[in-house]
Amino acid sequence: MELRSDTPLQGMVRRPLRILNRELQQIAYNWQRDEAAGWPVVYQIELTNHCPMTCQMCPRTHSMHRPHGFMSLELFRSIIDQAVRSTPHVFLHHFGDSLLHPALGECIRYASERGIWCYLSANPALLNETRIRALVDNGLHELVLSLDGVTASTSRAVRGPAAENVERAERRIGELIEYRKQAGRTTPVIILQIVRQKQNVHEVDAWLRKWKGMPGVDRVKVKSYVVWNGREEMINELSLNGSPDPTSVTCDKPWTSMTILWDGRVVPCCFDHDGLLTLGNVNDQSLDEIWRGESTRELRRSHRSGDFSNISLCEKCKDKEGYPVGKWYYPFNRLLQKRNTLGDEWQPTK
Ligand code: SF4
Repeated sequence: MELRSDTPLQGMVRRPLRILNRELQQIAYNWQRDEAAGWPVVYQIELTNHCPMTCQMCPRTHSMHRPHGFMSLELFRSIIDQAVRSTPHVFLHHFGDSLLHPALGECIRYASERGIWCYLSANPALLNETRIRALVDNGLHELVLSLDGVTASTSRAVRGPAAENVERAERRIGELIEYRKQAGRTTPVIILQIVRQKQNVHEVDAWLRKWKGMPGVDRVKVKSYVVWNGREEMINELSLNGSPDPTSVTCDKPWTSMTILWDGRVVPCCFDHDGLLTLGNVNDQSLDEIWRGESTRELRRSHRSGDFSNISLCEKCKDKEGYPVGKWYYPFNRLLQKRNTLGDEWQPTK
């Protein structure tokens, strides 16, 4: 089935509007304004928080208390309809594995047809024929598959018993590559990723030797460890690399984007695994109302002042993304400074 994409006219109108929106947001971020600028960009949509893995580096394993569920297709469509003017791409996961969502293919198709590229991070152990078809046939743009070791014991140590069968996971990756080839597609772009941490550091070299240059795998990535919002000591302890100095940049999330949980609650960023700071709910409010609402303004004020006494989510966050900001830095900070980004690719020292 052919994908119906944006008409050339729609694409022509949307692209400059999205660029203008991004620049308005950057001005507000640099000027540290409480008021929203532009339209909200949806960064992540959580299709589900179900997941069979028990990853030691994930706060979901240690401290997720909210109910489990799946986002309805109706709610997903409503979010996309509101976000399409400002959102060029969206991650279709948060703290769960979206391969489990029964309408994953419909979600990907709905967003893709409106010119939004869909990215997904998933566990290859959960791939099967139906899910592979859902990803390839509906136009997923990029798929990150997590394989955190080359042996069963390391894989189990990092992601729990559900990840132990490494051979099956590798077979499933092969089936995905084969199906994409048969379908005559170049997407999804397939990225294999290992998160470098204390439990698998001894296998990173072997992992790279095994997967680098593998036909059909578009890229391999050794991701630097992130400690999420820094609140879990067990997660912090698995880190090998020091986190960036959290005071060197101002987090840009309150000015640039939002993340939506499966039940419609809106949270500031991908580090909020448990709805610790709810800014609103898209079942009751529009994205615009939440973007301009008092809770989001309060979040911006806290970031401006650096006083997080009322916002425990951000208090210990070390891996925040952003630049040093200042009223007259725009637009030069983007040219002169390197943005702190989440989970940079780890590079071996020669
Ligand atoms: S400071 Fe950290 S936890 Fe707070 S919004 Fe930014 S990325 Fe999220």
